[in-house]
Amino acid sequence: MDIETFRRYGHEFVDWIADYLRDIERFPVLSPLKPGEVRSRLPEDPPETAEPMDRIFADFREIILPGIAHWQHPGWHAYFPANNSPASILAEMLTAGLGTQAMIWRTSPAAAELEDLVLEWLRRMLGLPAGFGGTIQDTASTATLCALISARERATGFESNERGLRRPLVVYASAEAHSSIEKGVKIAGYGRENLRLIKTDADFAIIPAEIEAAVAADIAAGFQPACVVATLGTTSSSAVDPLRAVGEIASGRGLWLHVDAAYAGTAALCPENRSILDGAEFADSFVFNPHKWMLTNFDCSAYFVKDPGALVRSFEIRPEYLKTGADPFVKNYRDWGIQLGRRFRALKLWFVIRAYGVEGLRALVREHQRLARLFKGWVEAAPDFELLAPVPFGLVCFRWNDGRRNEEALNAANAALLERINASGKVFLTHTVLGGKFTLRMVIGQRTTEERHVRTAWDVIRSAAGEIAGA
Ligand SMILES: *Cc1c(COP(=O)(O)O)cnc(C)c1O
Repeated sequence: MDIETFRRYGHEFVDWIADYLRDIERFPVLSPLKPGEVRSRLPEDPPETAEPMDRIFADFREIILPGIAHWQHPGWHAYFPANNSPASILAEMLTAGLGTQAMIWRTSPAAAELEDLVLEWLRRMLGLPAGFGGTIQDTASTATLCALISARERATGFESNERGLRRPLVVYASAEAHSSIEKGVKIAGYGRENLRLIKTDADFAIIPAEIEAAVAADIAAGFQPACVVATLGTTSSSAVDPLRAVGEIASGRGLWLHVDAAYAGTAALCPENRSILDGAEFADSFVFNPHKWMLTNFDCSAYFVKDPGALVRSFEIRPEYLKTGADPFVKNYRDWGIQLGRRFRALKLWFVIRAYGVEGLRALVREHQRLARLFKGWVEAAPDFELLAPVPFGLVCFRWNDGRRNEEALNAANAALLERINASGKVFLTHTVLGGKFTLRMVIGQRTTEERHVRTAWDVIRSAAGEIAGA
């Protein structure tokens, strides 16, 4: 493609994106297509000769777009959000335009130094302890894997990288912890049977005394406890583990403390939410995802460590072909994680923080929390619905319960309700199971979600329940 064709389509695509974001409510939130439908409309063979951009773009609109789930739709109440924003999209365009591969300082000093700066901004924006060093990872899953590897290295005096694990190390996390903990435990060589899933209380937060008891039992049995993970905002119900109590155990027992705040970390932008970070000084590592609730399009995960030396010592490589004279004076982020090649993600974070300002980002979080409390009030006031967990952030866990069914029938009724709600095309909610109860999760965190959308969602939910009850 010549550069003038690129220019023409570049303008056209920006217009298309602007229209898409403006008109997004016209789309059904979820794609109505069946498995295999997209693939069946695409040719099996790659084209031997160049195709005109007009035809490629037309296929994008006609074949690809109908198979898209519209994460930026204001009726997106599923999982957790994956917000973009105009500022973030513009920066991502520049990143693609530069085509930078930011593996070491020399391969783009601005990428390394901007990453250093915006992570320091983020540290201060959240109120994390001074001295924590930050880097950008693709996802929280990768950051957690890095934490588990660093914990493994520290627990073995940095020997397991050399000699492999000599005796089992144990990891502790809440029974409500994200599946990425289990995945990381497997990949990092701990072995899944050495992950202890600790009981939670009535609000689904970890019970510190249960960690203490499990650690003592493991030591008595000849195991070596190495790491404990505290979750601030669990994926099922956004429960908050008591960080200070967990941190005191970790520090007393010499365990690495990793904090998974993938979703809820963004809430700490607001001073009124900062109590979740009480005890953060005990953390060895901390992750949160600007790509969830902080308007920075996927992927962008902020990973902080108390001792960057331990991280770098776990991951450092020094092949001859990557050595430069600047090495003693700079941060080479290839040594801060798993990848060698790295995207220039700091740029979109810098754009977002500047384009919204910290106050602008806080206002968004506050509005979502207000809407979540509003929705929670409707659930509590409705005789045939019930709240199933506290609402500290933007997630409301609830179910339909008209009092006429046993637990098994209630679970089936709520599963049927969820299907009917999502078939509306106006909203998309997902579910979890809390204490054996099939639970609907209503997440309010999309950038474009306003009060009218939350009212629509509540209408859709109640009328779907009415239809099932009347059938
Ligand atoms: C979303 C989430 C993750 C995983 O995030 P990725 O960035 O997709 O890996 C991990 N932990 C919690 C608590 C989450 O909510």
